[in-house]
Amino acid sequence: MDTSQTMVESVVKHKAPFLFLILFFMIQATVLTVFTVPFTWELFWVAVVSYFVRMFGITAAYHRYFSHATFKTSRVFQFVLAYIGSMSMQKGVLWWAAHHRNHHKYSDTDKDIHSPSKKGFWYSHMFWFLRDEYNDFETKLIPDFYKYPELRWLDRNHWIAPLSLAIGLYLVGGWAWLVYGYAVATFFLGHATWTINSLSHVYGSVRYDSRDTSKNNFFLALLTMGEGWHNNHHYYCSSVNQGFYWYEVDMSYYILKLLSLFGIVWDLKKPPVKVLEEGLRRDYEKKQTKKASVVEKKIKQNAPASNAVAAM
Ligand SMILES: [Zn+2]
Ligand SMILES: [Zn+2]
Repeated sequence: MDTSQTMVESVVKHKAPFLFLILFFMIQATVLTVFTVPFTWELFWVAVVSYFVRMFGITAAYHRYFSHATFKTSRVFQFVLAYIGSMSMQKGVLWWAAHHRNHHKYSDTDKDIHSPSKKGFWYSHMFWFLRDEYNDFETKLIPDFYKYPELRWLDRNHWIAPLSLAIGLYLVGGWAWLVYGYAVATFFLGHATWTINSLSHVYGSVRYDSRDTSKNNFFLALLTMGEGWHNNHHYYCSSVNQGFYWYEVDMSYYILKLLSLFGIVWDLKKPPVKVLEEGLRRDYEKKQTKKASVVEKKIKQNAPASNAVAAM
């Protein structure tokens, strides 16, 4: 495991390109413009809406639709989904989905492009995508969507969607909306999304034997509208819902389910019964093991006292 290296060590070790680094940190620093605008609850909600709409664009569109094809939709709504995801400023839809398919193919091996156990926490969190060799993607990884010219156009011009959002916010609410709705919301949106590549492979519980370091993490699932159920997802990535049971909160899935009632999306793929049963069985076994270890601990704690009583 090499997750403990510092941010500076990560940059030095993996030779992140200097110019990209400066540009990246300058963009990150725009969050500090928050100190130029007095806080109001209206601005807070502008940031929250901007965050969650675009988080949906990443989770439901970039991830569950374009990377894993876990549901179907029309060609028009497919473009709408790609546009919303593109507004999050996390590069183009085809680029994102192709690299994500690569992550699943080589998860936590040397070929995994962002494995915290192989390349360190900070590299997996945010430095991997600054490297020159990942500017492009292998089109053969994503032929099912690469065939659409409008998606290729949006992917090539992925700066258009975030710019249109920034301009829109400025026209509606001036500098204050631009700061909260764009700079602040984009900063938190980026880091929350990246936790799925970093924290979700480090902290949380393991239900399935997915042969990698993926974890289930309730807190990250709340922040990322369901993506925190990452161990479930790595074990069975063809499912539209990543929270497999009713108690695993998955906001992206609830919204997709709602859209399916209106016929906007359809053919939502669910995990097979045997996967669900296996999950319940493993949870039960884990609980029993935990109970047994608690009992064993208590017996050990009481042992000296009872031995002493017996000796009297
Ligand atoms: Zn995935
Ligand atoms: Zn992963």
